Amino acid sequence: AVKLTNVVKRFGALEVLKGVSFKINSGEVVALIGQSGSGKSTALRCINRLETIQDGSIEVCGHRVEDPKLDLRTLRRDIGMVFQSYNLFPHMTVAENIMLALRRVKGMRKDQAFEIARQVLAKVGLSEKIDAYPEQLSGGQQQRVAIARSLAMQPKVMLFDEVTSALDPKLTGEVLRVMEDLARGGMTMIVVTHEMGFAKRAANRVIYMHTGKVWETGGAEILSNPQTPELKEFMAAEL
Ligand code: ATP
Ligand code: MG
Repeated sequence: AVKLTNVVKRFGALEVLKGVSFKINSGEVVALIGQSGSGKSTALRCINRLETIQDGSIEVCGHRVEDPKLDLRTLRRDIGMVFQSYNLFPHMTVAENIMLALRRVKGMRKDQAFEIARQVLAKVGLSEKIDAYPEQLSGGQQQRVAIARSLAMQPKVMLFDEVTSALDPKLTGEVLRVMEDLARGGMTMIVVTHEMGFAKRAANRVIYMHTGKVWETGGAEILSNPQTPELKEFMAAEL
């Protein structure tokens, strides 16, 4: 569903992705890990073309992402992305936040959009908050609404960038559980995370990035049995 081939990304003279290649099949969950500055967020941003690449190619659900003629709307219809900050509109209820893109982008009728909002909120365990405003929710609940909002668009691939790192540990678990449910439900996911427990439980594959390269990759067992000194050191620092 997602394939990067020798992707090079530079910011001016700084080469941030130095020939990154990996492939994720439909239904797979990949945990993308690595030190600060190793290029994880940049890789995600290249996948939905928030950044353009200098060399190599990226394919997402049949779209050639580096093609300048690519229609970004058709690409982004297939990709859901959730960040550390949830960016819900404070003056809108939970239902209205979720319905917004369904109405504006998909041109859906209000009653249809509301029905979908109901369904995705049930998936993230927040049915009773449908009429609440974001400020009435905890950080973890707001992040679950952000995930629900993304799910409502029925993406084929979901990208998560450190979605729990702004949350205190008590709220992290409830968000990770929602993501594990999604993983079990067959969603294709790329998850940038420092939550090694999540990576062990939910990931089919782990990609360790170091200095802009895929340094080590394998099943979750590489977390307990790293082969390179760099991943060994990274794992030691994470514990
Ligand atoms: P973190 O774990 O801290 O989120 P990361 O692995 O996500 O790190 P990136 O955000 O991808 O790292 O950044 C990789 C490198 O690219 C860093 O050196 C960063 O300073 C640089 N970088 C990222 N975005 C830009 C930009 N817009 N302009 C210039 N340099 C950038
Ligand atoms: Mg990052």
